[in-house]
Amino acid sequence: MRITADTSRCVGAGQCVLNAPQVFDQDDDGLVSLLLTEPGADEEARVRLAAGLCPSRAVTVHED
Ligand code: SF4
Repeated sequence: MRITADTSRCVGAGQCVLNAPQVFDQDDDGLVSLLLTEPGADEEARVRLAAGLCPSRAVTVHED
């Protein structure tokens, strides 16, 4: 699993950080930043949940 986050779409809702705090962070402006771009298997479920709950669809999960 690989993830990318589009800060131009992010609205700072924080759902990603709430659901997967080991993977997502927010910068001083509240915009998403990635702590990991290739989360391990133990983070997969949380990352998928976070991506699904992001209101602006800023997080993309790549299956490669
Ligand atoms: S959930 Fe989406 S909109 Fe909210 S901070 Fe994360 S990436 Fe940004």
